[in-house]
Amino acid sequence: MKVKFWGTRGSIAAPGRDTVVYGGNTCCVEILLNCGETVIIDAGSGIRPLGDHLMATRERVNVHLLMTHVHWDHVQGFPFFDPVFKPTTQIAIDGAPRCIKGLRAIFDSGIGDGFFPIRFEDLRADIHYLDELRYGPLKIQNTTITTVPLHHPQGGFGFRFEEDGNSFVFITDNELTRKIWRGKRIEDFAPFCRDADILVHDAQFLPEDIELYRGWGHSDYSTALELALKAEVKHLVLFHHEPSRTDRDEALIEKKCRELAGEQGAHIKIEAAREGSELTL
Ligand SMILES: [Zn+2]
Ligand SMILES: [Zn+2]
Repeated sequence: MKVKFWGTRGSIAAPGRDTVVYGGNTCCVEILLNCGETVIIDAGSGIRPLGDHLMATRERVNVHLLMTHVHWDHVQGFPFFDPVFKPTTQIAIDGAPRCIKGLRAIFDSGIGDGFFPIRFEDLRADIHYLDELRYGPLKIQNTTITTVPLHHPQGGFGFRFEEDGNSFVFITDNELTRKIWRGKRIEDFAPFCRDADILVHDAQFLPEDIELYRGWGHSDYSTALELALKAEVKHLVLFHHEPSRTDRDEALIEKKCRELAGEQGAHIKIEAAREGSELTL
């Protein structure tokens, strides 16, 4: 399986010369399975260039779209995903419960004059809601996808992909804590991440600032690392970068996280997600 980052930023898009390395688009990740199927996680602003790429490289677009949750930065790109306007496109949607409601709301909100000039019903693609993941695993050929509930306002799902003996875990918008909430501590997420080849985890805030943002539903690199080490993950990718963080700041976080792992004698590959980068499992 191949994993490509089309949007790595959290909260709001952050384009500009200070974010060209790690990227300015909000959350969107493409997973190309060995069987040839494409799975997209989340529809942040990164799904717009992904849509252009799919239209340019495929005769027709046939994808799964898995939604972690429907906060703004995870749905805002959907109306600009060009394949939704093509009658040959097929999109199977699943993920957090009620995610289809959130995607429809971008088009059909009755707030003020609405958010978008066309209606969900006017999209020409075949968009169908599978609604399987809240009841159990989703199978796509020989890939099995399972979920874990997020510790995040309004909830959501993290995903684990297993294909041909490889495992990829994606958990964003998740607040890891060392105490307080039973069922929400670092060790409670470890079984889900156990022995993963790659773990992508939220690291929006800094360890020195995290107490200011308690309850906002995000983590910092030190707790993400602690989870990765507890679960004996091989490769940790820090994700959902804070929008005001520059490439210099993000490179420093990467360095500090590697140093922290080194101090503990851990052998783990660590990087911060870069828009446009691709990982192979
Ligand atoms: Zn987010
Ligand atoms: Zn969120």
